[in-house]
Amino acid sequence: MKTVEEYIRSIPDFPEPGIIFRDVTSLLQDADGLKLAIDEMIKALENVDFDIVAGTESRGFIFGVPVAYAMNKPFIPVRKAGKLPCETVSQSYDLEYGSATIEIHKDSIKPGQKVVLIDDLIATGGTIEAAAKLVEQLGGEVVKMLFLLELKGLNGRDKLKDYDVEAIVSYE
Ligand code: AMP
Repeated sequence: MKTVEEYIRSIPDFPEPGIIFRDVTSLLQDADGLKLAIDEMIKALENVDFDIVAGTESRGFIFGVPVAYAMNKPFIPVRKAGKLPCETVSQSYDLEYGSATIEIHKDSIKPGQKVVLIDDLIATGGTIEAAAKLVEQLGGEVVKMLFLLELKGLNGRDKLKDYDVEAIVSYE
């Protein structure tokens, strides 16, 4: 049987020179690869006590929803600014050039609820840190950050010391 890593395609110099893009579409387009990835993420949550899955736009939706569905939990989309129609809380974070803002609906999390954050990949950790702050703005507690892939060299975990961070596959 193939491993998750074997389903991931690595594209050098995309989207710019020097970046190795870890492409999950090669895993998603294979039924066995998709099933393996979701099953591994579910396994990582087996002993976690949580109420909600939240996933970051857009690949966090692809992995977050099937995990939430299989574990009979609700799913909250963490969206780019301006996409959600009702009242939101916002959080801005720095990108290499400039900044980005993400939002969730105010009524999506109640104080004290335990939230698992899911994304396809952790690089610098900036996106998921901002997502955690959104959850915390509403009084929620981030009990785990779960990724399919981790780029260890970018030291994302350094800024996430207060959180339980897990990835199914780590790239050195
Ligand atoms: P970061 O906020 O730096 O942890 O970046 C995380 C987001 O950027 C993830 O949602 C990834 O989808 C995307 N990303 C960053 N670097 C890569 C890469 N080398 N390959 C594929 N996706 C990446």
